[in-house]
Amino acid sequence: LFVCFEGGEGAGKSTQSRLLKDTLESAGRTVVLTFEPGDTEVGQALRQIVLSPSTGELSHRTEALLYAADKAEHVDTVVLPALARGEVVITDRYVDSALAYQGAGRDLVVAEVEQVNRWATADLRPNLTVLLDLEPSAGLDRFAERDRIEGESLEFHQRVRQGFLDLAAADPEHYLVLDARADRDEIAAAIRTRVEGLLP
Ligand code: C5P
Repeated sequence: LFVCFEGGEGAGKSTQSRLLKDTLESAGRTVVLTFEPGDTEVGQALRQIVLSPSTGELSHRTEALLYAADKAEHVDTVVLPALARGEVVITDRYVDSALAYQGAGRDLVVAEVEQVNRWATADLRPNLTVLLDLEPSAGLDRFAERDRIEGESLEFHQRVRQGFLDLAAADPEHYLVLDARADRDEIAAAIRTRVEGLLP
């Protein structure tokens, strides 16, 4: 089972992905909790390039390819091997982040960003994507120090949010969209219920 968490900054993806991991482990499942960008050795280097404010301006296509390279390494060396062992894989961000940030957020054509990312991920698709939806100004308020992307304009983050919502609306069967401002335990319970229904 492959579950992704998506959403803007400060929506609680890492908290909720940890809670889901704990729940599934308590039920006896083996779980790999991972994230993008940066959860491989080469991914760490790529994350440093794309997110460090010292990188300065990057061509948007360069940026999209660096994120896609991180995904290729992540899928080939972490996600696919764990799925092949029959484990549950939970990732904090996946292809939708590329479609929302590099596609909807930047000026790139979403369908082109999608093609590159489908190739990078060997077209591996999640069984479920949990979208934690949050008004960007609320999420960004939680960060004092900002990386290259968090420092983008509010309009950029609003396009990203809408990008995520459009993806979910186009394929409701594979999405669970939750209001990230709801109570932490209520959100966790909704995710648990949906994921339990997918478990073999
Ligand atoms: O989720 P996390 O905070 O680790 O993400 C790191 C940063 O990478 C965030 O600022 C996010 O906006 C950015 N990002 C991006 N494009 C992606 C994935 C993440 O701009 N495809």
